Amino acid sequence: MNTGFLDEVKIYVKGGDGGSGCLAFHREKYIAKGGPSGGSGGRGGSVFLVADENINSLNDFSHGVHFKADRGQHGMGSNCTGENADDKTIHVPVGTIVGDPDSGDIIADLAYHGQVFLAARGGIGGRGNAAFASATYKLPRFAEKGEPGEERWLKLVLKVIAQVGIIGFPNAGKSTLLSRISAARPRIADYPFTTLVPNLGMVWLDEHRRAVFADIPGLIEGAHEGVGLGHKFLRHVERTRLLVHVIDSSSLRVEDPLAPYRAIRSELAHYGRGLEDRPEVVALNKIDLPIDNWSELLAAYRAEGLDPVAISAKQSEGLEALLEHVNARFEDLVSGEAVVRFEATDVLLEEDDEEEEVEVFDLDEGAGLEDFVGRPGRRRGTQARFTVRRDGEGFVVEGRALERMVSMANLENDEAVQWLQARLFRMGVDDALKHAGAASGTPVRIATLEFEFQDEEPLGGRPTRKQKRTIAETAKAPGRRPKTTAGGAAPISAYRDQAKRKKR
Ligand code: GDP
Ligand code: MG
Repeated sequence: MNTGFLDEVKIYVKGGDGGSGCLAFHREKYIAKGGPSGGSGGRGGSVFLVADENINSLNDFSHGVHFKADRGQHGMGSNCTGENADDKTIHVPVGTIVGDPDSGDIIADLAYHGQVFLAARGGIGGRGNAAFASATYKLPRFAEKGEPGEERWLKLVLKVIAQVGIIGFPNAGKSTLLSRISAARPRIADYPFTTLVPNLGMVWLDEHRRAVFADIPGLIEGAHEGVGLGHKFLRHVERTRLLVHVIDSSSLRVEDPLAPYRAIRSELAHYGRGLEDRPEVVALNKIDLPIDNWSELLAAYRAEGLDPVAISAKQSEGLEALLEHVNARFEDLVSGEAVVRFEATDVLLEEDDEEEEVEVFDLDEGAGLEDFVGRPGRRRGTQARFTVRRDGEGFVVEGRALERMVSMANLENDEAVQWLQARLFRMGVDDALKHAGAASGTPVRIATLEFEFQDEEPLGGRPTRKQKRTIAETAKAPGRRPKTTAGGAAPISAYRDQAKRKKR
């Protein structure tokens, strides 16, 4: 029997990159110049964590801790969209806490069977050039790259949650029972109750499933009124899924054999919170002792609709039958449970989600430069939440939609750069930077893109023939080629410089 028990692990998750958009033009016999026909790329798969009652430890992670979803298929000619990649799911035990390994912050607490946590989002597909075409922009000669999938390290910690509570009168034999059936002791320190720690034991229900049992001491009449320790322990019972009700058979009187059973039941009912509705397995203990009127006692419990298991905890008799009962109840529970999604707000964004992120922001009263919130652009167009933050000499612009757009832009392609530039302007980035104090020449960074701010309106997305020539000349003349950034991309403002020089 395996007693090794991995309860903490670090894993790496990466969503698949989006497929790249395709740059293609329609070609047909006798049609000299067809329109743009490059399809968009498919979405990369996301990585999900799923809380699964059938998994008991993080031991599976000893085989590997890297989880990557596949990338989306690239877009193709003839307006063919690439296929979306499948998502990847990682099953983890119920009670897994997901944390940030660096900050130690808790990101998610997977406490119920079927809870789903989006661990790494797949990238969306890049748009093909057909997607950029419009009535006024007939031949876009660029396509977007797929968005890189999210990637991060996560720390998983298995919090011990008792699934089964052992209840009953003092001296019924609860502690003895737990000591006979438990294989390993989980770390008590993880338990959220510090002063009153119930006895916990890891119990194998069958070859695959094990459950944590908690011996709940001191459950006596009046517990629900806070008498003694009982009340505090009832809070433990609240977290369990199933109860084993231990009764000392040798203490039963034939006139009222159900008295101790009913006393405990009424405690549970008084406490409320659905405790009395928990599935319950009744164990009639101490059958090794001589018990008068045994068959009558048994009959009385059966008449109550109960199906008691006769055991002797002390002599380890009937314990297998008891665990089989418990296991059967577990099966019912697990199969009847609905799937719960973890972060309702954190749903996958749709391909055309830019519209969804549209929100109009007012400038916060007295907002400092540090937390300037972007205003809507002065023209109509896409708006998105972003912030401008001072960073040394320059500024950093941050915002998901913005960063995504930059990460997907093909910065090697002049037309794509121009499109991006015009788009940023329309989103109000230039206005925001100016408001924050940027002047011509101030360095600005958006994700991996670095450029110098230019205090003037950019060219439209579609370059004129004259501008195209300028760009082509720039590319050909190495001496005049603007300096490249670390990523190998030309700063977008450099192209503005070119245009400006030409104008003068
Ligand atoms: P708890 O208060 O419910 O935790 O009960 P314990 O497990 O501490 O047991 C109380 C007393 O009953 C101890 O003296 C045990 O040895 C005894 N006991 C427990 N189970 C059995 C059993 O199956 N048969 C007999 N004869 N005694 C038992
Ligand atoms: Mg005890």
